[in-house]
Amino acid sequence: MTALGETYSRQLSLPGFGAAEQRRLAESTVLVAGVGGLGGATATYLAAAGVGRLILFHPGRLERADLNRQTLMTPSWLGRLRVHCAEATLRLHYPDVEVVAVAEAITADRTFPFLAQADVVVDARHNFPERLLLNELCVRLGVPMVEAAMNGAEGQVTVVRPGETACLACRCGEGDPDWEPLGFPVLGAVSGTVGALAAIEAIKVVTGWGEALDDRFLSLDLERMIFQTMPISRDPACPVCARGQPTPAAGTPGAAELACMSTSQ
Ligand SMILES: [Zn+2]
Repeated sequence: MTALGETYSRQLSLPGFGAAEQRRLAESTVLVAGVGGLGGATATYLAAAGVGRLILFHPGRLERADLNRQTLMTPSWLGRLRVHCAEATLRLHYPDVEVVAVAEAITADRTFPFLAQADVVVDARHNFPERLLLNELCVRLGVPMVEAAMNGAEGQVTVVRPGETACLACRCGEGDPDWEPLGFPVLGAVSGTVGALAAIEAIKVVTGWGEALDDRFLSLDLERMIFQTMPISRDPACPVCARGQPTPAAGTPGAAELACMSTSQ
């Protein structure tokens, strides 16, 4: 067995996950938007699983208050650009993974060329303008997106397949005008849990293994340990993805009826 085969031998014994799935991971590029508590956990588990290439987007420098959740960072790096800290740790732990670090927020000009290289995107940004822009760019390019968010002890995860399933704008077209992107509570284990779930969904999208959260919305209440999966469908009036699409089936809650939530930064 090769060293790489040995590295992944435990996941290669998963039912339905074999050499073909591992090869797809190795040949894939995943763009992770945000490497805070949530996106950092996503990037870690994607790298550990053997994703070939990670593109990380994140502006801003490391502050002490980030350390309760951002496990790719160390106290000695305070003041450094966080995306470069994440890059350094991932390269140390997973030297076979190519990491591209972009120390910028999500903007159409800067992000579009990288999105065109991605097989799947994970949205782990913490503010609605960037998340909605990323959603729109993914829909326009036809790139699948794992949408993950948390607030306090609650989390949400779903999968957006452009043209097939509800997009973020179906549910949160206007965002949340009262949202304070730097003011919400974060327990690191909560953002890490939601980030790990997002990694699992990205692995499913890339490999075809398992059943991804297509047309389903996972809601987590980790304070009370209540996990719910609800069916969702596209908003026929969605300004981003609806054009000319069929209306939702009777009895299926529209995505717009589900609450919006943002993401740990
Ligand atoms: Zn939509």
